[in-house]
Parts: sequence; structure tokens; C-alpha cells
Amino acid sequence: MRSLLVIVFFVVGLQADIFAQKTFIHCGNLIDGKNTEVQVQVTLIVEGNKIVAIEKGFSKPGKADKLIDLSKKTVLPGLIDLHVHLESETNKDALLQRFTMSDADIALKSTVYAKRTIMAGFTTVRDLGGSGVNIALRNAINQNLVVGPRVLTAGKSIATTGGHADPTNGYRRESMGDPGPKEGVINGPDDARKAVRQRYKDGADLIKITATGGVLSIAKDGSGPQFTDEELAAIIETAKDYGMHTAAHAHGAEGMKRAVLAGITTIEHGTKMSDEVMDLMVQKGTYYVPTISAGKFVAAKAKEPGYYHPLVVPKALEIGPQIQATFAKAYKRGVKIAFGTDAGVFPHGENAKEFGYMVEAGMSPMDAIQSATIVAAKVLQIDDKIGTLEVGKLADLIATEENPINNIKTLEAVMFVMKDGAVIK
Ligand SMILES: [Zn+2]
Repeated sequence: MRSLLVIVFFVVGLQADIFAQKTFIHCGNLIDGKNTEVQVQVTLIVEGNKIVAIEKGFSKPGKADKLIDLSKKTVLPGLIDLHVHLESETNKDALLQRFTMSDADIALKSTVYAKRTIMAGFTTVRDLGGSGVNIALRNAINQNLVVGPRVLTAGKSIATTGGHADPTNGYRRESMGDPGPKEGVINGPDDARKAVRQRYKDGADLIKITATGGVLSIAKDGSGPQFTDEELAAIIETAKDYGMHTAAHAHGAEGMKRAVLAGITTIEHGTKMSDEVMDLMVQKGTYYVPTISAGKFVAAKAKEPGYYHPLVVPKALEIGPQIQATFAKAYKRGVKIAFGTDAGVFPHGENAKEFGYMVEAGMSPMDAIQSATIVAAKVLQIDDKIGTLEVGKLADLIATEENPINNIKTLEAVMFVMKDGAVIK
């Protein structure tokens, strides 16, 4: 009996010790996501999953504490990509795989993509649509069963019949069926409300719509509007009822304009954004998530014979190369820019290339970093938890060899990752 008590005391004591243990992180440079200046020689102190103190200079850890020496590196908040598709990755058999792959196949592959994403320094992502397996992936990551970034997901995107996210586009007529709100296809405001409520029931965190045609769908049109004002109003109002924000895929100006006027939170791609739409976005505070990476990737791949369906090739060649210039213009005009890549349309883990494209187009490196930290956290409405390195926030942080303000490409080779206080890399 006594020996049992000793064991109990020992175990309890040990646990108390683990909780008391702090991790001291010596940061050579610190970009905290809040200040626009780079700080030098700072110590971040982490306890559990939170930052509990930030001290100038390199503070000495106590006997029970742990030291992580990043005194020659630059430390930043964990990066946030607001536009990924963790269920899939580009390949020339994508269309065939809709018939050959089961949910289990998709789920297993998605765990690989999730791991690659966090290893690249992205500790939080917004998944903008798949079959809905992404909801199970999010849950598995939250339960620490799978290594991956914090995921906020749209589940399955909402489209109109034949629209960009109608899952039966390009099928033989008998196989198309007539997908409805449950499958994310709506026609009219009642359907729209039902589709949003269904996503809420499924466990989605937010709503994604395909406001215009798109590049990779097996359909002719890549830019025209695909929702009426009434449908957009019904979706956005209903989403608000459930505390969900909304994202709109859009290439053409008319579809964008309708979505912005209806109160959409983010415009994705924004390829043919007109001056009028830019001004409306500034006025309404709408965020622009450019995904330059995806544009460049699809334009290059479209030149490879047989890589994409023949209906996709001309759209990819036309739309792909335009995004970077649109981004440059929107940034100059004062549109709020939030970081997103469309990873999955190109290989997962290459998300940080987007920073180089943004800086190349005229954005300052600090603005680019903030677009992927504090600004992105605001879009997700979790800027009280992540997006900056401050006392009380979650310990999501990364480190790079060089100072990214001097060489933005150093973000393509993140050497240290901590998520929720746990060292991942
Ligand atoms: Zn996308």
C-alpha cells in the first residue's frame, strides 16, 4: 500500500513538474507580427501552449526549464495560408481520380499534404473546399492523431448548377444527376440558405462560394458571374447567423462586384478585378487573397500537352498570368491583402513561394509577412489567439536562417516550427 502511495506521489509530482517547465526561446531577430520593426536579441518564454513572457536580451532559463537556441535565426509568428485544398494535389489524372479514389484514399493522402504544409512553416490554414473529408482531417489534427496545421475549413464549396464547384461537371449525362444544396449546388435563395445550414451541420468553419467560373473545372467559362444578388444575400446573411465568414472564388469583375456588395469577407484570385471593384473593396473593407502561385503554376502546366482537360487549357493560359499584375494594382490602390496560395493546385509545401511573388510585384517584405500573420488571423477572427507573438497568445512560431526582410526567399526554407507550444520541426 505504501509503495503504491509513493508511486502516486511520484507520478503526480512528475506531472506538476512538466506543467511548471517553461521553454526559453532565444531569438536573434524577432518579427512579432505586430510591430513593423525587427527586434534583436529577445527571449520568448513559453509555458504549455502559450507565450507567458517576452524579455529583452537572452534570459537564462531555470534548472527545470528548456532552452531553444535560435540566437542566430529570425523568429516569426507561425504562417497562415488562407487558401489551400488539403484533400488533393495537382496531377494529370485528377479527373479520373474522382472515380477511382475513395474517401479513405483521399483522407490518407491529405495527412501527407497536411504534414508537408506545417513543415513548411504554415501552422494555420484555411481549407477552401474539397469533398468534406477536410473536416475529418481538421478533427484528427485537433486530436493530435495527425501532424498538421490548425485547419479552418469550408467543407465543400457552394456553387450553382454547372458552376465552378458543381462536382458533376464533365460527367456523362446519366452520371451527372442533379446535385442539390446538400452536395453544395444551389439555385435560388432557399437552396442557398439550406446549403449554408448543411455546411454548418457538417461541421464547416466558414463558407466558400464560387462566384464566377473557374480555371480547373470542366466547363467553358472561367469568368462570368454564377450567382444572383438574391442568392448571394441569402448565403452571406445565413452564414452570419452561424458566425461563419465567407470567401468567394472570383475571376471576373461582375461576379466579384456582386459578392463584395453582398458583404463577402474575402475575394479569392480576383484576376480581372476592375478599378471600380477595388474601390468598393476598400470602402467595404473586403480582403483580397491573390493566389499568385496558382496562376503561375497553371499557366506553365497548360503548355504541357495532356496535363489538363482541353476545356481547361485556354482558361489557364488566359487567367493564370494575370493575377500578379492585378495584385500589384490592388495593393497600390489600398485594398487589404491577405495571404493565400491555392496550394493543392500546385504541390503542397511550396506555399512560401507566394511571398517572393508578392515582393516581386511591389509589396514590402514586412507587409507580405503581416498578410500571412496578423492580417490572415483577423480574416479568420482568431487574432486574439494567433497572428502575433505576444504574451497570452498561442505559441505558434517559426524560424528562418536569414532575416526575411533582407531575403524574402528564406521563408521557403523554414528551419524551426512550433505549434501550440509543441516543437514540430
Ligand atoms: Zn482554390
